[in-house]
Amino acid sequence: MEEKFSSLYLHIPFCLKKCNYCAFYSIPYDTEKVELFVSSIIKEMELTQIIPHHINTIYIGGGTPSSLSVNYLEKIFENLFKFYKMDKNLEFTVEINPGAIKKEQIELFKSYGVNRISIGAQSFLDKELKFLNRIHNSKDIKATVNNLLSLGIENISIDLLYGIPKQTLENFRFSLQKVTLLEIKHISLYELSLDKKTPLARKIKEGQLVLPSERTVEKMYLYASEFLDKKGFHKYEISNFAKQDYECKHNIVYWQRKPYLGLGPSAHSFIGGIRFSNYEELFSYAKNLRSNKLAWINREKIEGFEKLKEIIILGLRMKDGIKISNPCLIEFLKDFMSLNLVNITDDNTVSLTDKGMLLSNEIFARVLLHIENCLVCKEELVDHLWNEK
Ligand code: SF4
Repeated sequence: MEEKFSSLYLHIPFCLKKCNYCAFYSIPYDTEKVELFVSSIIKEMELTQIIPHHINTIYIGGGTPSSLSVNYLEKIFENLFKFYKMDKNLEFTVEINPGAIKKEQIELFKSYGVNRISIGAQSFLDKELKFLNRIHNSKDIKATVNNLLSLGIENISIDLLYGIPKQTLENFRFSLQKVTLLEIKHISLYELSLDKKTPLARKIKEGQLVLPSERTVEKMYLYASEFLDKKGFHKYEISNFAKQDYECKHNIVYWQRKPYLGLGPSAHSFIGGIRFSNYEELFSYAKNLRSNKLAWINREKIEGFEKLKEIIILGLRMKDGIKISNPCLIEFLKDFMSLNLVNITDDNTVSLTDKGMLLSNEIFARVLLHIENCLVCKEELVDHLWNEK
């Protein structure tokens, strides 16, 4: 593999309690499993250190990374710095959950150069947090932010959810107001999307719960976009808002299709135009590493139409959009422009408006269908332009 990767994602799969909407790979904390996980991920670092790299961003997510004790976290950090070459201006993010973070952990993060913390707050209404089976309450969120600030971490991001069953526009506005009162730099706003295996999805299927109407969810998103902009958080991607210069560099790597390595069960990597995914289940993941083999279960070379699809979908998620030099596709997109769904600049940079971001999946589907069915676009875009990028 010749291509250098510059970003690293590390998945810690333990959680103290399972949230009822969550489909990420996470398992209950168990000392034996934690031991197995830590020794396996160190092995994975040892095996992957030979892939050319120079690391600019690290993101430790999960699961709940802060469910591990200082000793285990330190072992992981120590080995990260032992095996990989790090840039001196590293963006180093750790995800934490309010109610599951201790002062010693934050101090450890600081001593290893963690300079960005992402907090899974989800809501500022205790009844919504309880409904989602979260372990924290709204007071914990504020206390966590204050702790981080007092220990010198100022680049703080907060995740919020919208479209929760029984959530009204007023409830959502309340959480938005509260989040902007905190001294933070970044907000990720995710619409609740339910995998059918989750307990919440089952309840909705059985008719015991209903999701807010599509119209309400639309109003929530449009309200948030305007409100956050007024509060100085500019939208730079469909779900992400930041104060100036506080955009998440690590996530931008994903949307720009730059190479990254994923470590840990269920982690994904993208190197040399190939997407790899690790075994999801801890024991299968560990078994491979124990026999000195990488834990990749799937690998797929992304080329031709698949590559084009990724460039369009990931690129248009970003507020800056993408440059399109194909006149036929630009002509097709002008219809969306007349509906105030896309902007097209004089140099043919195409981006989605707020309304377009709301309908992004529909727009992506139509654009891709057009390319597939249009001989001019297909030949020019798939066979020449995009493959050369
Ligand atoms: S804390 Fe995060 S990863 Fe863990 S169960 Fe809840 S949503 Fe899933």
